[in-house]
Amino acid sequence: MSEPASQGCGHGGPDLEQEQRLHDNLQKIRFKLLVMSGKGGVGKSTVAAYLALGLAARGYSVGLMDVDLHGPSIPRMLGLKGHAKVQEEAQLIEPMVTRHGLKALSVEMLMPDRESSVIWRGPLKIGVIKQFVANVDWGRLDFLVIDSPPGTGDEPLTVAQSVEGALAVVVTTPQEMALADVRKSLDFCRQLEMPVLGVVENMSGLTCPHCGQPVDLLGQGGGQAMAQRMGLDFLARIPWDSRLVAASDQGQPLDLEHDHNAAGPHYRDLVQAVLNRTAERRQGS
Ligand code: ADP
Repeated sequence: MSEPASQGCGHGGPDLEQEQRLHDNLQKIRFKLLVMSGKGGVGKSTVAAYLALGLAARGYSVGLMDVDLHGPSIPRMLGLKGHAKVQEEAQLIEPMVTRHGLKALSVEMLMPDRESSVIWRGPLKIGVIKQFVANVDWGRLDFLVIDSPPGTGDEPLTVAQSVEGALAVVVTTPQEMALADVRKSLDFCRQLEMPVLGVVENMSGLTCPHCGQPVDLLGQGGGQAMAQRMGLDFLARIPWDSRLVAASDQGQPLDLEHDHNAAGPHYRDLVQAVLNRTAERRQGS
């Protein structure tokens, strides 16, 4: 990514311009949903992608932004190859558009060699995240779904602080270890005064494809119980569904809007819960 358009004295010029641009871009987006998790591997990116696809399938204009510098998985999951266009003069990045009409952008789409792994040094990471979030031309959107880096360190902190007015969607798995990490995420939201839209329990139970009986894989209900204890909304539980793994690996997401197996109906519950909760917020504001 190149430097901001104007080169000031280094005492606030470009930063102020970047802040203004960020503010202007975010103003055009009705709801910013920050999908986060206390640790990696709980299915945060999968939930972000299918939530965005589900909202787009219902006719909303939706953007999906992948801010994970180390393991960007959204382009692979959506089968997006090639590079995002940059309007050189305006220094604006144009998201790619999937065949589902979803606008999507990942840091990886700006790298000269998409296959190479980049070693980002601390301060550079923060600068890149800020610039990346500020300089995307999303246009008018109903929802921007943000796949935030995992954990509660500097990277998710930069994302959360850059996206004014974001609502957190916290993803967890049912086990106790993962739940301990979620508590940290919730603490993080509290400190940043970022409202939590709700909790999603992923990989929650499995239906045996042979006998149709439930299998207790990682347990079930831990996320829901925690949400209740903490007075948070529980958005949905998504069961284990091995088709999700294969679909992501092949870059061909499932059409869960019309799917009646395993994860399908649960993802539709998640989309509906997000629509209900955000509508309540709009009325309340
Ligand atoms: P994270 O973003 O938290 O690191 P990912 O979304 O990359 O996690 O998911 C990690 C792995 O788990 C991927 O292989 C993904 O396909 C798989 N996965 C996610 N959700 C489910 C699910 N409900 N059932 C089965 N596999 C899942």
